[in-house]
Amino acid sequence: MSDEHLIAATASETPPLSALTPASGECNSACPYCGVGCGVTVRQQDADVTVSGDDSHPANLGRLCVKGSMLSETVVSDGRLLQPRVNGVPSDWNTAMDSVATALRTTLEQYGPQSVAFYLSGQLLTEDYYVANKLMKGFLGSGNVDTNSRLCMASAVAAQKRAFGADYVPCSYSDLEDCDLLVIVGSNAAWTHPVLYRRMVASRRENPDKRVVVIDPRRTATTNIADTHLAIRPGSDGVLFAGLLNYLKQDDRIDLDWVREHVAQCEESLDAVQTWTVDAVAVETGLSENELIGFYEQFAATRRVVTFYSQGINQSATGTDKANLIINCHLATGRIGFAGAGPFSITGQPNAMGGREVGGLANQLAAHMDFTPDAIDRVGRFWDAPSMAQGPGLKAVDLFAAMGRGDIKFVWIMATNPAVSLPDSAGVREALARCETVVVSDCIADTDTAKYADILLPATGWGEKDGTVTNSERVISRQRAFREPAGDSRPDWYMVCDLAARLGFGDAFSYTSPAAIFREHAALSAFENQGSRDFDIGALASLSDDEFAALEPVRWPASASGVAPPSLPAFHRDGRMHMIPVTAVPAEAPPLKTGEAVTQLLLNTGRLRDQWHTMTRTGLAPTLNRHQRFFAASLHPQTAAAMTLCAGDLVQISNEGGVVRAVVSIDDGVAPGSVFLPIHWSDRFASAARVSCLLPAITDAVSGQPQSKFARVAVEKVSVEKWMLVFTREALPLKSWSSDYWSRVRVAGGEAILMASSDHGELLAAVDDLTPEAERLAITGQSPGMERRFWFDHGLAGALYAHEDHRSLPDPAWLERQLREPLPSPRWKLLAEPAARDVGDALICACHDVSQSAIVAAIGEGLGTTGDLGAKLKCGTGCGSCVPELQALIEEHAAPAQSQQALA
Ligand code: SF4
Repeated sequence: MSDEHLIAATASETPPLSALTPASGECNSACPYCGVGCGVTVRQQDADVTVSGDDSHPANLGRLCVKGSMLSETVVSDGRLLQPRVNGVPSDWNTAMDSVATALRTTLEQYGPQSVAFYLSGQLLTEDYYVANKLMKGFLGSGNVDTNSRLCMASAVAAQKRAFGADYVPCSYSDLEDCDLLVIVGSNAAWTHPVLYRRMVASRRENPDKRVVVIDPRRTATTNIADTHLAIRPGSDGVLFAGLLNYLKQDDRIDLDWVREHVAQCEESLDAVQTWTVDAVAVETGLSENELIGFYEQFAATRRVVTFYSQGINQSATGTDKANLIINCHLATGRIGFAGAGPFSITGQPNAMGGREVGGLANQLAAHMDFTPDAIDRVGRFWDAPSMAQGPGLKAVDLFAAMGRGDIKFVWIMATNPAVSLPDSAGVREALARCETVVVSDCIADTDTAKYADILLPATGWGEKDGTVTNSERVISRQRAFREPAGDSRPDWYMVCDLAARLGFGDAFSYTSPAAIFREHAALSAFENQGSRDFDIGALASLSDDEFAALEPVRWPASASGVAPPSLPAFHRDGRMHMIPVTAVPAEAPPLKTGEAVTQLLLNTGRLRDQWHTMTRTGLAPTLNRHQRFFAASLHPQTAAAMTLCAGDLVQISNEGGVVRAVVSIDDGVAPGSVFLPIHWSDRFASAARVSCLLPAITDAVSGQPQSKFARVAVEKVSVEKWMLVFTREALPLKSWSSDYWSRVRVAGGEAILMASSDHGELLAAVDDLTPEAERLAITGQSPGMERRFWFDHGLAGALYAHEDHRSLPDPAWLERQLREPLPSPRWKLLAEPAARDVGDALICACHDVSQSAIVAAIGEGLGTTGDLGAKLKCGTGCGSCVPELQALIEEHAAPAQSQQALA
């Protein structure tokens, strides 16, 4: 980097914020959660915001899942970061950005471009991504731009590039409806991509010949749609598909004419899997030979097959090979390139695809170009860039490892929480502590990562941001601003341009709106393209500001020439798609045993229906928090029995990486010998629930994606003297109470904390401090062993229940209502709380406030279909996200005749 590029510039070179005009009244936007990318319609009247599904959006056609339906509950000012902070001290933008620029400039001068990095996020908009990538790779001379999308879909990207020569997803959502055989592997779509799942369910209902195979070690909500559930041993999915490919060859089911015309490397790829005979696959997967042959024959005999895969495949040390084994099966049989056929990788994040489009991964340059000499020259000329990065940068896990070694000395983390989400999170925290300058831009003030920030920059949140996102089927949608930015918050793209200006690059970053950035991004995609790159949205490069504002969802490619996109993804120079000669590695070994006692379990990680990532946003919505309020570990009944554990016990789960503590939940869907933990909890929400500390930093050799699904853990019971359930109207200040366990959650009208401890003095003092004026009432001995305390001011300010048995604590939903409603008169009526229920009694239907216990009671009265339950309780008649759980509850609790009725 030459000095002339590091001249300090003035803030006046940054664009005016007045260009950022929010929409008003009603607008269409995009849901900020999963990669389905549903369209939403937002209506705003004064402070009231309502969100509904956008009928015209091709992804969801008006549907929303429960997370999307509850978006309005998250449009609140609680917890927002409203002002820049420098070294913990509130600051102004000029000072903060000067601090960022000075630290970056100094680092570059002293240590060179490989010492600096940006760590981005699939929650950013494409325009944020574009300018950050351009600044780092074109003007600072480093490839060190990576993203949390690395954790989600990097293996799928690498596999697609190997097979097709480009990161091309060869399917769209309609293929899920058009196929006759739908194979779902490594995905609990009913919870993670609920609107797509509902499209699958509806299409199955309409097509009685359609068959669905779900491959998953767990029985999940998704397996409700399955004609066949293949409960394989954890990690053996690659073996299953290697066996399928070998079966297709052995049974002469390869489409030789098709392969001759379209596919390279078929023979080598078939040779690579020849050891995976049906009997060998049966040993590794734990499935019977009949089960295997049944599935293999179904695949071979059905032309319109879609294999739908997600994190269960990608988050593996061999994720890229597994994805290529899936693609190989489709290429060998020609099951790709027409309606209802193809391998379909679904992304987890709302804009993982948009990030890939701009090149926001360390191994990409820009606009689907890699670091080839031609591409570096081309992009350098397009950007008029002085310091083009000459090669790939560090991928996420490597980047934080380099930071831990002291090689990365400046990092800007945008819109993500790596101190929670990356594996070996203890090591990541040490690395952040060691890094000389950590800049964090986020809309939330107190994230685990923000604690390590030297400079904290307040970013605009959903509803304030304006730009584009791309979903899993390559559809670009507008995310529109409909509110003024909270406090002093600013869009990430604006902060990056401000920094560029202060570094002397103002001319190249003088955008006055997201529309201007989008036009340049679209123009780069078409620059010297002439059909050589699949990502071409040149048709959008000349959109006016008004046209950008009104842009309807559009699927790429959308070239300016108007040439129709190819029907097949054959972008390799030889004009063929490539099968990849890879084989599968055997699955994880079963849990270790000492004599009869189980001493180790396999950890399986995943998501919950109503939470998203580290809960910074969904944790704000009381309704979403009621599906599972507190951090819990799920065990199969056999496993629990072998370890003498019961529901409600406290367990410690540990390995060399760290320790978490969770309440036991019994779930016969979990594979025996394993423990399932949700990934969402951080230090903000629980005492020890950061699951990532248990995950070693093992990555896929091709993609760099971490293996986030498996670890070996020891599980042991922790004896508890007393359980406490505390409700307060005001949130208690964040604190590390000395306890065996605590987990906190926002509830309607306040906050709830579940704590296990021999001593709750600290907690009592905290509530006392919070309510100094409140009148206090302590009652003991009314019900055996139960201690109760209440704090009153103009209503109920707080309530605490303590008992040695977790299951004797009162119903949290009842307590929530007391916080919201006027005090009963006389007050002693508060003592007449309903019969105790397990604090794990989940809210199953968020739309109509129906709990699991109410549904089970109705099933017990003889209601045997989801329709019956809906008619009586209304559950399942809103967004529909809970229907798979209703079916599962009917199966579990109904008399046999009833469950047959439910499945019919
Ligand atoms: Fe949002 Fe749900 Fe649609 Fe995903 S499926 S985009 S979370 S509404």
